[in-house]
Amino acid sequence: MASMLVKDNPILLPLNVEKTVYDGFITVQVRELSLYYLAIQGCLFSLLQRLHQSTDLVGFILELKTVLEVCLKKLPKCYSIPPPQYYSQLILEMETLGWDKLLFIDTQFQILRMKAEDSSGRQHILTINLKSKHPAEAPECSADLPVPLLLKWTPQSSLNQLYSQFLLVIEALTEFWDVLDEIDAKTWILEPEKPNLSDTMRRIAIANNVSIKVEVDPQHPKMLPECCLLGAEHVVTPLRNNLNANMHLWNPDSGVLQNLQDVLEIEFPSPATHEKSMFSVECGICYSYRFEAAIPDQVCNDPRCSQPFHQVCLYEWLRVLPASRQSFNTVFGECPYCSKPITVKTAAQKS
Ligand SMILES: [Zn+2]
Ligand SMILES: [Zn+2]
Repeated sequence: MASMLVKDNPILLPLNVEKTVYDGFITVQVRELSLYYLAIQGCLFSLLQRLHQSTDLVGFILELKTVLEVCLKKLPKCYSIPPPQYYSQLILEMETLGWDKLLFIDTQFQILRMKAEDSSGRQHILTINLKSKHPAEAPECSADLPVPLLLKWTPQSSLNQLYSQFLLVIEALTEFWDVLDEIDAKTWILEPEKPNLSDTMRRIAIANNVSIKVEVDPQHPKMLPECCLLGAEHVVTPLRNNLNANMHLWNPDSGVLQNLQDVLEIEFPSPATHEKSMFSVECGICYSYRFEAAIPDQVCNDPRCSQPFHQVCLYEWLRVLPASRQSFNTVFGECPYCSKPITVKTAAQKS
């Protein structure tokens, strides 16, 4: 039973040890000493073995000292262990917060991953990096969010308060994620390939080589998002005209997806009606769909050609041809397929 606990959730061990072996008597010493132990990976089983073999407390403490010394010698010199109060404080704070929220804790007891759920049942992870001077020094927190994570901390704060603040943050973003979840479920998303909770952009397929890039505002998710139509001019122009003419009809009370279809006067192809392969046409130069995460977003404007290209591929192709000319950041040349005029902007500089 005890060894199972060590394996599954090492932090439960010292509490268990106290209760079963030296109940009440060595609360302070064993809790802190064994927490030191727990910070040192690989010593758990020998500690447990000795604990079971010891017949009295003095014998156990001596054994403990020996094992501790051996383990400390194995540690790199730069490794500094926080003071004992750090661990007792952490245990107390975790007891208040609830161990069931803890997904992961590293062997140094400094990085914690807590799970949280918003009111739509979406799972979130809050990563907390505790400083050695915890709680005097604020921990570093991070999560997969579309906005910067700003949590308040004072030396009197606790993990419980931190967690409550995080729940408020994710609750305020629930509407934003609901909007994107509906888009993800009912349309074909070309980009990002696997959206994260922090992604605000979606490139939605409209037809073969035609798509719309929408940028949803996390603070105002139901308002008209920033839109950019991608595709051949003869297809994109009428859509852009519809968007401009109908923009005023946008109704924040109905869904973003429905609004987009209404203002563009289209129906988005959905997984229920179309196969995704219809929209993932490969680049006419490198013959692949994805090239370093990019998908073809340049299209020949000739309606009979409409060949898609990656921006990088088309730029590199046109740049070296003597018939092409460059003006500022735009290269003018001929489509490699139909020889009609085609332009491409310089590939964005990679940082
Ligand atoms: Zn390409
Ligand atoms: Zn062409």
